[in-house]
Amino acid sequence: MAMSSNLDPIIAIATAPGRGGIGVIRISGSGLRPWAEGLCGQPLKDRHAHFLRFVDRHGEIMDEGLALFFPGPHSYTGEDVLELQGHGGPAVLQRVLQDCLARGQAMGLRLAQPGEYTQRAFLNDRLDLAQAEAVADLIEASSLAAARSAMASLSGAFSAEIQVLSGAIVQLRTLVEATLDFPEEEIDFLEKYQAAERLRAVLEHLEQVLQTARSGLVLREGLHVVLAGQPNVGKSSLLNALAGDEIAIVTPIAGTTRDRVVQDIHIDGVPLHVVDTAGLRETDDPVERLGIARSWAEIARAQVIVHLQDARQPGDALDEAIVARLPAGTPVLNVFNKVDLLDDVARAAPGASVAARQAVAGGPVPGGPIEALAVSARTGEGLDALRTRLLQIAGRTPGSESPWLARARHVQALEAAQGHLQQAAAHAAHSDEVLDLFAEELRLAHEALGEITGEFSSDDLLGQIFSSFCIGK
Ligand code: GDP
Repeated sequence: MAMSSNLDPIIAIATAPGRGGIGVIRISGSGLRPWAEGLCGQPLKDRHAHFLRFVDRHGEIMDEGLALFFPGPHSYTGEDVLELQGHGGPAVLQRVLQDCLARGQAMGLRLAQPGEYTQRAFLNDRLDLAQAEAVADLIEASSLAAARSAMASLSGAFSAEIQVLSGAIVQLRTLVEATLDFPEEEIDFLEKYQAAERLRAVLEHLEQVLQTARSGLVLREGLHVVLAGQPNVGKSSLLNALAGDEIAIVTPIAGTTRDRVVQDIHIDGVPLHVVDTAGLRETDDPVERLGIARSWAEIARAQVIVHLQDARQPGDALDEAIVARLPAGTPVLNVFNKVDLLDDVARAAPGASVAARQAVAGGPVPGGPIEALAVSARTGEGLDALRTRLLQIAGRTPGSESPWLARARHVQALEAAQGHLQQAAAHAAHSDEVLDLFAEELRLAHEALGEITGEFSSDDLLGQIFSSFCIGK
């Protein structure tokens, strides 16, 4: 895991900006103890909470609180870590931070980059790359389900699966490469070691892991939904009803405008990014236009269009402009709302469109990827069916949990490994003559899996991953 890195001691405020009961400052570096004890004015017992006054370099008391010293390698970063827990106000924390920086200047103490503590933990083998990513995912998790799965990844559940797969591939590689080194034994290698059978078993396991990873990816990234419909058909009511008690925990990111057209709700812990087409109107307001441009970017990624209509007077067509701009093949769900206002006779009466009647009868609309569902945002009728359908489109079974969370790059790496193993299997079918090609595909599959845990990974990738962390983690 080659990576050039500046290993100066680093410092950051680890708690979130703003006011809180407690604020934590964390300093990490190797050989930090003498400096830390000088700063605190007393010897520090390992992993022991010392209550003391934080006195600045001119002798003035800045705050009082706890100091904890974690000697490396048994610390978060694997280096010596000093944690100062004071009062959680921005001014007092800044003051302590600045004083530490001044007093640490001689040893090169500097502010930490985003994710730098976790990056050091990774470099010092405290966590692998998938676990390091899980740290960020746990912090960013916006639903209980996502937090639970991120924690499973952090505990190593995902990495363990990858290790099992890699282990099996390494075993095969060892056998085949030993054979290649002794060509006289090359004859019947595949048969002798049942290589094809072993490979099939690995491929089967990989397929399962891939399925779980895809489902874990949806939990992290969510489903992109476009909600189209005339005013008053019940779009907002439907969103609220669908979200139910699942509150989307969304914190606005500093510097971004809150746009009114994209809304996040959760179903079964899965984030649904819903673009309401009602918000896509012509406007001269530059801020609103920015929001609208973002919405179109969201729409381009739409995985499903929900066309909401009033069951009493179904509209006849989707907004042409929106349909025209959507990638072909995006499934459309025709959802007829307010069925509570229809009596039994009206539900089957002429006047309702064919689609509406079929939706009420529970049948699909023939001749296209368009499906129909009848719901009532008011009574909740039909909402379970709609939720189930949306989750199915997202590739999940309602009520199921993802054992771990995955990122797009994990799914890509697993797919790459699968491709190489399938190639290897194809070579294996050609007898021992192509043993070197077989070996090469195994090597490539092993490498692809190693990218997930960081065994093989480029500096670019590491930079990309850690720079998206928050500062202080
Ligand atoms: P939007 O403009 O599409 O977002 O529509 P709203 O969600 O604001 O709903 C418009 C009106 O229809 C409101 O008065 C809602 O209370 C009502 N409404 C929405 N869904 C239903 C439903 O399923 N049944 C009935 N009876 N009324 C509904």
